[in-house]
Amino acid sequence: MRRITVFGATGSIGESTFDLLMRQGGREAAQVVALTGGRQVARLAEQARALGAEVAVTAYDDCLPALREALAGTGIEAAAGAQALIEAADRPADWIMSGIVGAAGLVPGFRALRHGTTLALANKESLVTAGPLLLAEARAHSARILPVDSEHSAVFQALVGEDMAAVERIIITASGGAFRDWPIEKLAKATVAEASTHPNWAMGQRITIDSASMFNKALEVIETYEYFGVDASKIEVLVHPESLVHALVGFADGALMAHLGAPDMRHAIGYALNWPERSHLPVARLDLAQIGRLTFRAPDLDRFPALRLAREVMATGGLAGAAFNAAKECALDGFIASRIGFLDMAAVVEETLAQLSSCGGLGKAPGSLDDVLHMDAEARRVARQIIDTRT
Ligand code: NAD
Ligand code: MG
Repeated sequence: MRRITVFGATGSIGESTFDLLMRQGGREAAQVVALTGGRQVARLAEQARALGAEVAVTAYDDCLPALREALAGTGIEAAAGAQALIEAADRPADWIMSGIVGAAGLVPGFRALRHGTTLALANKESLVTAGPLLLAEARAHSARILPVDSEHSAVFQALVGEDMAAVERIIITASGGAFRDWPIEKLAKATVAEASTHPNWAMGQRITIDSASMFNKALEVIETYEYFGVDASKIEVLVHPESLVHALVGFADGALMAHLGAPDMRHAIGYALNWPERSHLPVARLDLAQIGRLTFRAPDLDRFPALRLAREVMATGGLAGAAFNAAKECALDGFIASRIGFLDMAAVVEETLAQLSSCGGLGKAPGSLDDVLHMDAEARRVARQIIDTRT
């Protein structure tokens, strides 16, 4: 039986993965090795029981007693903390979902690659912060990374059987998030609650707010650049409010291959789970006659400076992605805590990059994961200082 591990099992991506595993036969069809989560230990234990996991891991030491209690008598091991996440990554598995949110997902996913696994990568931050290292690690151990972000899964599917040399451009779409049509004056006063709703996708709170600020799309542009290895100038963002076309690939002969589907992450997760085959998936089928029309427009870089910053990050290269992501995570924390306003998030990230750039070393290629983690910590320190002076 195929051995499967899910990092971030209790999150939005994790729950969709759990749903597909249960539908595809659950414990009868796969040997579930490890499931990991954060503070929702009751749910984590429930999933571990349902799938007959070998071990359940909470990221937080103080959650271990509750997890142990919830798993008492099941024979399922309980563990906690960063080291336990690494140990979970070391347990042999054929397919691993990287579904932790934020830079915290980098180390476990990176570690799993050394065992030659197939890593289904929802954690886009891994590619943004350490793309070249991650891909090199996969190559060195004959591991495979399959994209799970919907746009990147769409590009991946549009590229099947194609020659990368014939790719002229890659277009990823953006719904525009909660504030697509808001004027800039109104954006300045946007609240956390307003930013935490998404017109089309049901996702975790952090990525939902990142969608409203377009930081999610900024991360995805860098993710495209790192994963597909195309020139930054070939990557475009297109606002598409209906979220039905997920990405398009343009070829040398002028053809555009588009990927369409319902906005349901179980498509991209299921594609990675069943790859290289396609199996039935429980996603809505599109009735295009009923939908009638699809609309597209160019993104507004004045209202959404995150997209401009992503271009600067790609031009700088090296450790800029790690700094960009870490500063963004701090700015997002600051916004969620109501310490800074919605538009201040981009200002904090830009100021952090400027300060780090003046110290030099931002464009230096990381020699190891430690260099990335060091830059991550440094960018958080600088970003927090900037936030402190603003509040
Ligand atoms: P989420 O917040 O719903 O879930 C995150 C999971 O990670 C939870 O299991 C949580 O317990 C765990 N976690 C949180 N902090 C952790 C830490 N410090 N250490 C270990 N575990 C931790 O997030 P999500 O929306 O499922 O997103 C997960 C990843 O997938 C993100 O990188 C996101 O950008 C990406 N992604 C999500 C979607 C989506 O539809 N939700 C779509 C595309 C990509
Ligand atoms: Mg996406």
